Amino acid sequence: MMLPTKRYLGRGSCPHCNGPTKVRTVRTVSPTFQEHYLDCQDQGDEACGWRGVASVVIERTIAQSARPNPRITLPLAAPRRKPSGLPVPANDDTAAEANAAAPEQLAL
Ligand SMILES: [Zn+2]
Repeated sequence: MMLPTKRYLGRGSCPHCNGPTKVRTVRTVSPTFQEHYLDCQDQGDEACGWRGVASVVIERTIAQSARPNPRITLPLAAPRRKPSGLPVPANDDTAAEANAAAPEQLAL
């Protein structure tokens, strides 16, 4: 079961109160694995106070580095597609789509 996702501007959410957490320390274990030490920032009627550790694994590349490390090999993520499965139109396809949506205007 997936829990609802909240956006905390780059911060994670607390597993207990679902409030925002702050990364206190990052321990780099390897170039693709880090441990993030988190503090819950919830300050409700009764502050949560949870602290814990999250593991962050870098799994794949979305955009290639301009300064690649030759020792790092990551799979390249497939290009993102619209949910329809059709390819994302190029910037200059927008006018053609707008005309297709209103074909009666083309008959003028
Ligand atoms: Zn909390």
